[in-house]
Amino acid sequence: EHVPVVVVGAGPAGLTVGNILRAASVDCVVLETETRQFVEQRPRAGVIEDAVVRGLQERGLADGLLAAAQRQTACEFRFDGRSHPFPYTELTGRHHWVYPQPLLVTDLVRTYADVREGDIRFGVSDVQVHDTDTDRPAVSYRCPTTGERRLIRCDFVAGCDGARGVSRSALPQERTRIARHDYGIGWLALLAEAPPTSDRVLFGVHPDGFAGQMPRSPEVTRYYLQCAPGDGPGDWPDDRVWAELHRRLAAADAPPLVEGPLLEKRVLDMHDYVVEPMASGRLFLAGEAAHLTAPIAAKGMNLALHDAFLLGDALAARLVEGDDAGLDGYADACLRRVWDYQEFSQWLSDVYHGAASGDPFRAGTTLARLRRLFTSPAAAAAFAEQYLGLAEYA
Ligand code: FAD
Repeated sequence: EHVPVVVVGAGPAGLTVGNILRAASVDCVVLETETRQFVEQRPRAGVIEDAVVRGLQERGLADGLLAAAQRQTACEFRFDGRSHPFPYTELTGRHHWVYPQPLLVTDLVRTYADVREGDIRFGVSDVQVHDTDTDRPAVSYRCPTTGERRLIRCDFVAGCDGARGVSRSALPQERTRIARHDYGIGWLALLAEAPPTSDRVLFGVHPDGFAGQMPRSPEVTRYYLQCAPGDGPGDWPDDRVWAELHRRLAAADAPPLVEGPLLEKRVLDMHDYVVEPMASGRLFLAGEAAHLTAPIAAKGMNLALHDAFLLGDALAARLVEGDDAGLDGYADACLRRVWDYQEFSQWLSDVYHGAASGDPFRAGTTLARLRRLFTSPAAAAAFAEQYLGLAEYA
């Protein structure tokens, strides 16, 4: 079997690359270890940048999102027992969108498989990437029904298999550098079957630790609670979760949180990494296969989609018109944005976590930084630009 492109992984990045290729009438196979139902239900991200929505729209992939997503115009910090709204649309004219990742993935699978008649193979196992530094790379896998091993030869491999994937290990070890940053804290990630208390994203900066609220839908709300890095869900019975959320997100001028059953409760190991180079020979990584950013600034899926737009377009240009420029510049173009977002996540992490650091000096400077967002138009504009994301990186 031979196809021009094998895409490893059916997350937001891989599905977007596959959709762009199919729209250009380029054949590809998407390989995914999980089932269709599993990837369509996996709850994760929800906040999407304007520029990403536009990128999806330009590629015919935003119909579901535009029909159902909530358009956000402000976020809100809570500190000193009060709410401090940050009206970013008023400052920039730009928005954030809330559209849960499972809905986006469902739309992307449907468009790829059912509308654009793309080949997607769910439930495969033991995926291996071969010969990517030659002109005839290949990907092999075990078929879920027969257990038989299959090999697909191709011209290019798109490694979109996320943080736990295999394609990254096909980069030549002697030329690969993994830069990693550990935050030294934990975040308890929660999904509550309860309406959000505010339709804005809330950031609670509190001496007991950070707390966040991200609306997902009128019925479901994501919450985060800073916790000790070694904690497990067992350390956080529901009544402790709600007591801490109420305390850390308290604002005398806002209604209290609405409690509900907790559908998800897990501790995230808060770290970032960047793999360089993101490409070697005929292997191109995109999304979390190449870089992870802790959900501090809600950037992970946005970065994955920015990569996927560049990679899909570059592969289509190469395979349809013989134009190599996009692929040649791909890794550098992605990495400029990736490092910028990593820096912003670190900056924002200091704002979120400084008050609870136990160091009164750091707590003081953090609060000064936070207050500056509400007193200095220049500081507010800089924050809004990074929080909302730039459309282009020159
Ligand atoms: P993934 O979504 O991980 O997709 C990779 C796919 O590859 C998966 O389907 C996996 O099953 C498959 N796979 C793995 N190994 C193999 C293999 N060997 N062979 C074949 N397939 C394989 N981002 C935001 O932008 N905004 C947010 O608000 C936000 N909130 C988040 C909240 C939480 C709790 C978490 C955990 C993440 C959040 N993120 C957020 C990050 C976002 O979910 C990820 O950045 C995004 O899913 C990355 O997309 P991806 O396509 O690169 O990888």
